[in-house]
Amino acid sequence: MRSFGPALARLARDLEDTARSFPRTTGIAAPQVGEAWRVCFIDCTGHPKVPDSHGPIVMVNPVLLSHSGFETGREGCLSLPEITANVERPVEVAVGFLDVAGDPHEVEAVGFEARVILHEMDHLDGVLILDRVRSLALDVFPRTRPGASR
Ligand SMILES: [Zn+2]
Repeated sequence: MRSFGPALARLARDLEDTARSFPRTTGIAAPQVGEAWRVCFIDCTGHPKVPDSHGPIVMVNPVLLSHSGFETGREGCLSLPEITANVERPVEVAVGFLDVAGDPHEVEAVGFEARVILHEMDHLDGVLILDRVRSLALDVFPRTRPGASR
């Protein structure tokens, strides 16, 4: 693991700035900006599917502590701007992570916000939504609204 310090804080700001530069983006992970750190940024503030958002969160070394339920939902990805896909994920999750100062935190999320967290955690392992669909023929769709992305 790399050390905590100015470089990590800079990466966290970079992730947030990049996410905010795309409309309707709820998360981004360090590998998407070419950095091999286990860091992601999520922010579901104002998203219609997340009435009780936790707001912006930078997660360093996030770990899935527990999950329950499963449901299928549509996801997009900044790394795959041409498509959306149906992906099955847990409905409720508890995730442990460190902040940019190295202090531990835990967050419990449900529904779409849980989905966003799991999507970004997948990026840290090089997993994209196309790796998660049941069927490339039935569960992948061309984007109908250019600019809508995550
Ligand atoms: Zn993505």
